[in-house]
Amino acid sequence: MGIISENLKNIKDNLPQGVTLVAVSKTKPNEDIIEAYEAGHRVFGENKIQEMVGKQEVLPKDIDWHMIGHVQTNKVKYMASFVKLIHGVESLKLLKEINKRAKQNDRVIDCLLQVHIAEEETKFGFNHAEITEILSSETYKAYENVRVIGLMGMATNTADKDKITSEFESLKLIFDKVKESNPQITTLSMGMSGDYNIAIDNGSNMVRIGSSIFGLRACAISQ
Ligand SMILES: *Cc1c(COP(=O)(O)O)cnc(C)c1O
Repeated sequence: MGIISENLKNIKDNLPQGVTLVAVSKTKPNEDIIEAYEAGHRVFGENKIQEMVGKQEVLPKDIDWHMIGHVQTNKVKYMASFVKLIHGVESLKLLKEINKRAKQNDRVIDCLLQVHIAEEETKFGFNHAEITEILSSETYKAYENVRVIGLMGMATNTADKDKITSEFESLKLIFDKVKESNPQITTLSMGMSGDYNIAIDNGSNMVRIGSSIFGLRACAISQ
């Protein structure tokens, strides 16, 4: 067994039932994805649209591609025909564009709204009030080709476990409240290689794991 399939197996064996694993393959070559694919994995996450499109074109068609990175509005069209889930929706303008491109492809695209929980100002996202406002707006209700099925968040990049825990707790609280009035909200995407166990302990049901499966990226800090 290769190292990638071994890592994958170790992680999957320890994930609780009901937690979806998104294998984050950004910057990694197709051979690495194929190794994970041959080990039975089908859900992969990328953070750059062009890179994801390039991989989707040549890799098996039954892969579910998740866009986990920041999405530029003018690039939505390139992935609209196949993307399975867009994690990082952080503006109504983006939702509008996704709706338009999904409609052109005769699809409904599932999305997660990104919530700002980290202290870093560079991380994008809505707060609780904004999420409630969007989901109850007539504008959103008129978008027939996008479906917001959950929330996504990223904790501060820190070794301070208490801080990470309290950020994930705050996202879980928002998730539970939003869910009360919006039953279609079922997915909570939180947790990466360094903090996914804390995320799961705090209610995550979708984790995005890259380096613990595929190894460190060449430029792990900027990516
Ligand atoms: C890169 C990335 C991940 C995976 O990071 P690892 O630390 O390698 O597991 C998860 N989520 C997002 C949004 C990312 O950009």
